Amino acid sequence: MAAAEILHDNIRILGSSSAGEETYFLLPELGVAFDFGRSPRELIPIEHVFLTHGHLDHTAGLAYYFAQRWFVDAAPGNLYLAPSLIEPVRRLLRAFGEIDGHEPPARLHPSVPGVDIEVRRGLIVRPFDVNHFGPRTQRAALSQALGYGQKGQDPAAGMHFF
Ligand SMILES: [Zn+2]
Repeated sequence: MAAAEILHDNIRILGSSSAGEETYFLLPELGVAFDFGRSPRELIPIEHVFLTHGHLDHTAGLAYYFAQRWFVDAAPGNLYLAPSLIEPVRRLLRAFGEIDGHEPPARLHPSVPGVDIEVRRGLIVRPFDVNHFGPRTQRAALSQALGYGQKGQDPAAGMHFF
């Protein structure tokens, strides 16, 4: 599916979401993104990526993102994700290192509901818990899924991502 572009409070948001296929959103002027999808070209320059959860339609391009940043001599990307996913992602990157010959450098940071993340001065992202049901089963498939909002916003209103 082609990427869409919308303007929200003068913030440009590019992205695509097709359940089970690919989901990502990026805010180029702020240098942040939410999820990887299959890591489209416009995601590679983004320095900070917030992962909502581990489903493959949100994570498929994860290793490619870090590998491409290394390939173009960019600083390692920063990935914010549920603490329980940090070690599995490390293992994934190590495995790609064995396959590819070089483990892509990555900066992984825990993303904990209610704990603000200061991306840079004046830009704070607030993770919050959300319920997410697995495809087909309609049962809770994940122990943790995260939404993200701007500081000071009620997660139930305004700009938030999942
Ligand atoms: Zn999902």
